[in-house]
Amino acid sequence: MKIVMLGAPGAGKGTQAQMLAKKYDIPHVSTGDIFRMNIKNGTELGMEAKKYMDQGLLVPDELTVRILLDRVAREDCRKGYVLDGFPRNIPQADVLDEALSKLGDKIDYAINVDVPDENIIRRMGGRRACLSCGATYHIEHVPPKKEGICDKCGQELVLRDDDKPETVKNRLQVYKEQTQPLIDFYTKKGVLHNVDGTKDMNEVFEAIVAILG
Ligand code: ADP
Ligand code: AMP
Repeated sequence: MKIVMLGAPGAGKGTQAQMLAKKYDIPHVSTGDIFRMNIKNGTELGMEAKKYMDQGLLVPDELTVRILLDRVAREDCRKGYVLDGFPRNIPQADVLDEALSKLGDKIDYAINVDVPDENIIRRMGGRRACLSCGATYHIEHVPPKKEGICDKCGQELVLRDDDKPETVKNRLQVYKEQTQPLIDFYTKKGVLHNVDGTKDMNEVFEAIVAILG
């Protein structure tokens, strides 16, 4: 089962993708997590990606596409995967589509987690991320058991640099201009499903599971 998660930054894609990965026993592939891991480890790729991420801009396709295709070519992705944060524009979606069709394959479901802008700003200000395992929390809605510490791996939680209000505005604009057109792209392919992302995370999850069957 190959799933693409769509939605504005902060809509809850990562939260749902992690839950889906666990339930269906498939990898959660987040290009944002891959970039953040590279930044943390001080790699050349990380340094290059950070220049764009800190401004709320997309990392150039040349870098992003290669990383994604390498990741999904790995053995653990044979049964399927849940993509979170990729594709983020039409050219990325086209490359993914072509790579899959060469293998006689395709994306089975594109799940659009729909959340209005007002909620997004609040969600991103309260988001706390674990840069070690990729887990995400919210100081009000999804707090960790122990403040500032990841439940899953015990590492420290941080406010992402790109979750600061100035950057969030840019990210929303980039989303509207470049990523939102993917809703049409996947609708035309007959695989798009909308879920109401303003609901509690367990209700959103149930709605997605009902779609996936
Ligand atoms: P995305 O991957 O789309 O950027 P996240 O999954 O990181 O979004 O979620 C953004 C923030 O909102 C996080 O702090 C997360 O804990 C919180 N969150 C996710 N889903 C919900 C929900 N259904 N209700 C309230 N808060 C949520
Ligand atoms: P995310 O963790 O999905 O919110 O992504 C954080 C940031 O990483 C984005 O604002 C972009 O700068 C970069 N990024 C993640 N995925 C992509 C992608 N598919 N294409 C370009 N940039 C990306």
